[in-house]
Amino acid sequence: MKIDFNNTEQAFISKSDMDMSKAYVLFKTISSPTIVKAGNAMLGIALKIHFPINWAVKPTIYQHFVGGETIPSCDAAIDKLGEYNVKAILDYSVEGKEDAEDIRLAFEETKEAVKNAGKNPNIPYAVFKPTAMGRSIVLEKASLNAEMNEQETKEKEEFLDRVHQLCKLAHEVDVPILIDAEHSWYQNINDYATNTEMANFNKEKAIVFNTFQMYRHDRLAYLDESYKMAQEGGYFLGAKFVRGAYMEIERERAGIKGYQDPIQPDKETTDKDYDAALIYCLERIDNIKIFNGTHNENSTQIMIDYMVDNNIPLDHDHCWFSQLYGMSDNISFNVAKQGFNVAKYLPYGPVKHVMPYLLRRAEENTSAQGQSTRELDFIAKEKNRRKNNK
Ligand SMILES: Cc1cc2nc3c(=O)[nH]c(=O)nc-3n(C[C@H](O)[C@H](O)[C@H](O)COP(=O)(O)OP(=O)(O)OC[C@H]3O[C@@H](n4cnc5c(N)ncnc54)[C@H](O)[C@@H]3O)c2cc1C
Repeated sequence: MKIDFNNTEQAFISKSDMDMSKAYVLFKTISSPTIVKAGNAMLGIALKIHFPINWAVKPTIYQHFVGGETIPSCDAAIDKLGEYNVKAILDYSVEGKEDAEDIRLAFEETKEAVKNAGKNPNIPYAVFKPTAMGRSIVLEKASLNAEMNEQETKEKEEFLDRVHQLCKLAHEVDVPILIDAEHSWYQNINDYATNTEMANFNKEKAIVFNTFQMYRHDRLAYLDESYKMAQEGGYFLGAKFVRGAYMEIERERAGIKGYQDPIQPDKETTDKDYDAALIYCLERIDNIKIFNGTHNENSTQIMIDYMVDNNIPLDHDHCWFSQLYGMSDNISFNVAKQGFNVAKYLPYGPVKHVMPYLLRRAEENTSAQGQSTRELDFIAKEKNRRKNNK
């Protein structure tokens, strides 16, 4: 079964003409590296001096990529996606929290999101970022097994307890929970916490998910290790796959600090390991639940081909595809139309907190050599198609 990823009619079926025009202006604007760079700098200053930015951000980039400020305000977006068999994963978009009160609030909010997911069949997963649950210095030291003072040791225990509480709650309300991966220097403690919680809560089915960033050259081997641990421990492996979002900073830091670059030598090797990881899991589909988090059409089609060739039901609960809200609708809506399980990450939160996420989206949609980006091409194609059909 070949998916027609160029079917823009299906891709944007949920969008009005007005939505399309706004999306066009947005992607046209952020395709300019100069504008994104200048906007980035201006926003940084505005946030520092507490200059109000909501009026500029909310009706534009925020509205395109974010569901709303609170859980209830995401309902409209969730219902809209649900009409087309596309589910939503509410992602409270805070990260890198360093203040005890902020961390407490993020923890409380994430608990609400988990409970809310338990009540809504259109929200098949919960999710959180580890750096929202503990100070980065503590996660880093814990990951490196570095010496910690009494306070840091206490915070490490608190971090592990928060992860435990979230996974326990997810288990109670019967919603799988994805633990995102961030910079490699925080990952060892996340792996430890995730493996511990998988052993606790994945006995009957996959509730807790680790994230494997396949741009890391050690992750394919680690997937095998994780699977063997799961087999020995008698639990299901929850495996979310992404290529990885922090390549530049990973390379830069490794260069400055003089340790081996954790990233693959080139994109082809990342792609090869990504697809090999999917096949590895598909071959063990009874014991692994796969969350294929990608905007790459090839890595989507590869999984579909394997499922069809091996008579795996299209809506097998161990096989999920996922994209970010506001991006790659050409994958989400076309794949969902064929009956596969699709869910989009739907970020929510106050403008101020969501800014780092939005800036990452702007940067990845900026064109390098002045040519338009793929997202912009699809939007332009659909606008034209609609115009010609009138
Ligand atoms: C649902 C979802 C959840 C996500 N969750 C996370 C998460 O928890 N953690 C996280 O880090 N990211 C996460 N991401 C982002 C993801 O890691 C990628 O940055 C993004 O999706 C682009 O990769 P791709 O597979 O979509 O497609 P592609 O466009 O095919 O791949 C781009 C990616 O390839 C890799 N790459 C590019 N050039 C090179 C090179 N020269 N050498 C080696 N590798 C290279 C990089 O990872 C780059 O981001 C998530 C994405 C989605 C869709």
